[in-house]
Amino acid sequence: MIEHAKPTKMAAAPSAAAREHALISIVAPCFNESETVDLFADAIDNVLEGADFDCEIVFVDDGSRDDTRERLTRLAERREDVRVLILSRNFGKEAALTAGVDHARGDAVIVMDVDLQDPPELIRDFVRKWRDGFDVVYAAREDRQTDTAAKRATASWFYRLFNKISDIKIPENAGDYRLMDRRVVEHVKSLPERSRFMKGLFAWVGFRSIGISYSRPERAAGETKFNFWKLWNFALDGFTSFSTAPLRVWTYFGSIVAFVSALYALVIVFQTLIFGVDVPGYASLLVVILFFGSVQMISVGILGEYIARLFAEVKRRPIYIIDKVIGGPPEAPDAPVNT
Ligand code: UDP
Ligand code: MG
Repeated sequence: MIEHAKPTKMAAAPSAAAREHALISIVAPCFNESETVDLFADAIDNVLEGADFDCEIVFVDDGSRDDTRERLTRLAERREDVRVLILSRNFGKEAALTAGVDHARGDAVIVMDVDLQDPPELIRDFVRKWRDGFDVVYAAREDRQTDTAAKRATASWFYRLFNKISDIKIPENAGDYRLMDRRVVEHVKSLPERSRFMKGLFAWVGFRSIGISYSRPERAAGETKFNFWKLWNFALDGFTSFSTAPLRVWTYFGSIVAFVSALYALVIVFQTLIFGVDVPGYASLLVVILFFGSVQMISVGILGEYIARLFAEVKRRPIYIIDKVIGGPPEAPDAPVNT
């Protein structure tokens, strides 16, 4: 076993030699993945046979209700390179990823789904690019043919809008699957927010990045855990975490409408003076009242989205709770940052 220097917080750029004898952590969140965890572990083994770096796998059981936990426990008991963090309930993928990244010990950390939609074959390319000097290597989907047309369309709208209104840019075709150098990981760990839109947080941290394109396969087994409603809330988390444009747009909208209303008021005054009092107007009045009633409700609703998230932030509850850690050497006392 190679001894790995304990990373210091916000360390300086590592030398190329440090990347030669490296420990790579693979972080995989699992929620009801009983059908895929063993396939995943085997696939990683196949791909990494004879690799010139050490590897540890950190599985995070995100409150699974099937036998994922038992399967992961068996894996951890059988293999020295597997560690399992069992969360006390389902906290969601972003929180599970946070837990995994917080507890990873590698010189570089790879986050990936356990359903083999993030092909393990890319790991060697990731490490190669990392050794070339890149701090972040992400997988860029060449196509999304395995997604439904509706998911492709909504994802594309989301990324376009997100990149327009937020201060950071996230590549349209990148998911979470990526390798991050230890320096990057330490900075990600230092971000204190409760609302974990990980893709945004990874991008916010910056550093020298490169994408490797791949075509996204189907899920190896099981079903997606994200329905439309979850994705919608995920998108709201993304917007509210990285942009205040939805809040500020109402100032401009209101100003424009006030200006137009003033002009219209002038028109009415002149019409009344020239042509006399004109009583009909029920339909237009009703339309205007309904329109502004709804616009106000939408703007209050958007305020509410931000206030709810502010509330969650000020409560400062932990992002996740770990029930048990199985396998691996004992935890370093300062390992978790976010619990
Ligand atoms: N996942 C999780 N917690 C959740 C939902 C999902 O840890 O609450 C994990 C899941 O086990 C998988 C990854 O997140 O490893 C991606 O989930 P999924 O494949 O369902 O998403 P999709 O690929 O359909 O976007
Ligand atoms: Mg998947």
